[in-house]
Amino acid sequence: MSPLSGDSKTLPCATESVAEARTESVAAAHAESVAAARAAAGAVTDPEIPVLTLADLGILRDVRFDGERLQVTLTPTYTGCPATQVIEQDVRDALAAQGWPDAQVRTSLSPPWSTDWISEQGREKLRAYGIAPPGPVSREHVPVRLTGLARIARETAPAGPACPRCTSQRVERLAEHGSTACKALYRCLACREPFDYFKPY
Ligand SMILES: [Zn+2]
Repeated sequence: MSPLSGDSKTLPCATESVAEARTESVAAAHAESVAAARAAAGAVTDPEIPVLTLADLGILRDVRFDGERLQVTLTPTYTGCPATQVIEQDVRDALAAQGWPDAQVRTSLSPPWSTDWISEQGREKLRAYGIAPPGPVSREHVPVRLTGLARIARETAPAGPACPRCTSQRVERLAEHGSTACKALYRCLACREPFDYFKPY
């Protein structure tokens, strides 16, 4: 069978598969762009805890294209935190460096960020950095966490950070606020080293 003899018969089919392949390659390129943008934005580090990336913190909520324009959604860690503007600008810069100079960075406050969103890898990095990672947030406190009573309940609840250096749970709290308001200062009674505890929020 000569290849030419089959041409007229295979043409419609071939056209279809070319179109299909093109659609597939466009979709693949699109998925690749989203993945590249997600990686670039996710690799931006937190200005306050530079060992943690936005991906570690879990604040990168969504990466998508609105037509040709890249749109990234973040949920700030602490509302009103001055680091939020720094993070947004750092994300814009990181995306511009990857070829998306007009990327739009939006913030979404709902659902609110919680320390529970910090990845396991992020928790490991915190420990290696000498910060005890936050324990789980008690679910019952989440919906009412802005009220005074809930805050008191949470803060008087037995906190159980382990020493990030020697893992001892024999620790004492020295101060409610450590190097930043979101951390408490503790000291390990086993190795005597002070350390910051990233408070569950
Ligand atoms: Zn220790």
